[in-house]
Amino acid sequence: MPLERRSWAEPFKIKVVEPVRMTTPEQRQRAIEEAGYNTFLLRSRDVYIDLLTDSGTSAMSDRQWAGMMLGDEAYAGSENFYRLEAAVRKFYSYKHVIPTHQGRGAENILSQIMIGEGDVVPGNMYFTTTRLHQELAGGRFVDIIIDEAHDPASEHPFKGDVNLDKLETVLKANPERVPYVSLAATVNMAGGQAMSLANLKQARALADKYGTKIILDATRVAENAYFIQQREPGHEGRKIAEIVFEICSLTDGCTMSAKKDPLANIGGFLALNDDEAAEKARNLVVVYEGLHTYGGMAGRDMEAVAIGIEESVEDDHIRARVGQVVYLGEKLMKWGVPIVKPIGGHGIFLDAKAFLPHVPQTQYPAQALAAAIYLDSGVRAMERGAVSSGRDPVTGEERMPKLELVRLTIPRRVYTQAHMDVTAESVYCVYEEREKIRGLRMTYEPKHLRFFQARFEPVA
Ligand SMILES: *Cc1c(COP(=O)(O)O)cnc(C)c1O
Repeated sequence: MPLERRSWAEPFKIKVVEPVRMTTPEQRQRAIEEAGYNTFLLRSRDVYIDLLTDSGTSAMSDRQWAGMMLGDEAYAGSENFYRLEAAVRKFYSYKHVIPTHQGRGAENILSQIMIGEGDVVPGNMYFTTTRLHQELAGGRFVDIIIDEAHDPASEHPFKGDVNLDKLETVLKANPERVPYVSLAATVNMAGGQAMSLANLKQARALADKYGTKIILDATRVAENAYFIQQREPGHEGRKIAEIVFEICSLTDGCTMSAKKDPLANIGGFLALNDDEAAEKARNLVVVYEGLHTYGGMAGRDMEAVAIGIEESVEDDHIRARVGQVVYLGEKLMKWGVPIVKPIGGHGIFLDAKAFLPHVPQTQYPAQALAAAIYLDSGVRAMERGAVSSGRDPVTGEERMPKLELVRLTIPRRVYTQAHMDVTAESVYCVYEEREKIRGLRMTYEPKHLRFFQARFEPVA
């Protein structure tokens, strides 16, 4: 009998294991109450399968661990900085590299050197820390992503694309006030959705026409390249590394969280082509991060990032990485669980509005759903909805985004297919019992990035 489809398997084998703890329902009830129904406030020892984030949670390779022993912990001019710089130039094309402790460190420096009071920064959907740094620098973020990105059911293959009319309107209306267009590869908040090369080229043409720059959020650029290879006509069969290089070449610089695609546990950088801007960034990095040849990273961490960058653009790696996400997503779709489509690159996003239609958005359905999944099985997910969206800086009103999502984020090279099965079955069981889930009331609200530390209780 011919097989319907041949299976794929991970292009690695396991050398070291880290035991995880199973918990009882009573232990989980106590833990989530103590955490104020916020999965960010759970202790990791109380979590069975941790899908909170893919940030800094990757399993490093034996080559990366060996590289850690080559850390040159000199204060200035560490050998590992030059290895990192060479990797960024080779794989991402940029000329200047300013290391930072992680992605938001790069966002802070970029925003401070580029954005002035009253400037406008168009972007393909906001990201929490990116927008906050733009706002703190006096800028105003304007969303220019295509409308399909705000519709969880739309199967548009490139929901990360820019609406070019919207972008041109913003550029035309704000002459000299758009320091750069902020474009993310695989848009996190839209569900890990990719942008196409064709669209990026058109956005580039508009940026050139109006004399502004494009800065890439390159955090998940390899995953974006994979979707281009799989879905965009004319790019099938191209190497991931080649597509990554082309994406970066179409932009003037990037911010990078090395905790994501580059397979490191900590680190990041700002990369720029412009000599003058890079000089300003080097002047500022010493204020916030550290000397311009380490920027808050240990030498060994820069080495791990340099090796991780190279591994992250290997075709076999990225196929298995996204393949695992697709495996989980297809299982949930088959069981009728509402998720964002098409399946994204780094996680499965549950559509909490469709999952819990009886919970109004003011009672944070996504937050409530993440807590319910934890209670069921010890799987930790994350809210990406009204809580993450925060308040409008001008009016102080809560922003109620169209997308009210729970993210099951898959760490790279960490979990097996069996972990995905357990996760899918837990989500399905919660779905079967969904009418029992109640909304939440916020009892503590931090001023900035409230989703990290807010506390809740179930409404009566
Ligand atoms: C994680 C992330 C950041 C911020 O990076 P950190 O390393 O967490 O500071 C920026 N943009 C995107 C798209 C991210 O996913």
